[in-house]
Amino acid sequence: MSEISEEEAARHREKMKKRKAVQDAEVAARTIEKGLLVVNTGPGKGKTTAAFGLMLRALGHGWKVGVVQFIKGHWATGERTAFERFSDLVEWHTMGEGFTWETQDKARDVAAAARAWERAVELMGRKDIRLIVLDELNIALRYDYLPLAEVVETLKARRPDLHVVVTGRNAKPELIAAADLVTEMIPVKHHFDAGVKAQAGIEF
Ligand code: ATP
Ligand code: MG
Repeated sequence: MSEISEEEAARHREKMKKRKAVQDAEVAARTIEKGLLVVNTGPGKGKTTAAFGLMLRALGHGWKVGVVQFIKGHWATGERTAFERFSDLVEWHTMGEGFTWETQDKARDVAAAARAWERAVELMGRKDIRLIVLDELNIALRYDYLPLAEVVETLKARRPDLHVVVTGRNAKPELIAAADLVTEMIPVKHHFDAGVKAQAGIEF
């Protein structure tokens, strides 16, 4: 390791002091506390896992949380099983039949989406729940299985301290406009393209 001269150390201290002053001022300027509407979208991997990561953070604070899955997966997912350990705090709803390109029955998919949305509205009415994940709601909106304007209005009219996380590709511009925090996942590389299959613990 190279030696750090007195002069260099002093310069570094001065620079860090200035940086800290700027950061402290920025932190002090932010005083609002509110429930956030969070959207995880984009074509890259990590939208759902990020939402569940946030849920874990909330659970660490002893919060009650809710999940509605708008698309039923093929497999029992690791996250669902893991969150069963927090069954006193987690309220989990997976849409009955689920819709995917595999059902090929639009009327059934629309009805399933409506039922899932009803669950979501119920959860939003629960005063004890502080964070709700609406997993793949964007997909239901993308296919017009739910009335977009009504969904966005209901999300906007939620209790002011309630956090809601919506996931799924192709988030509608109206939802993005209503949200406080929007993250677009960009695929830089995905192992699927190299022939790697969906693996337990990584994809489900
Ligand atoms: P995850 O659930 O792993 O966080 P996600 O919610 O961001 O993923 P979805 O659009 O819900 O992504 O798709 C879920 C599945 O599709 C995952 O198994 C994921 O590995 C896979 N996937 C996501 N992005 C890509 C991609 N760019 N190319 C191929 N497969 C992908
Ligand atoms: Mg997902």
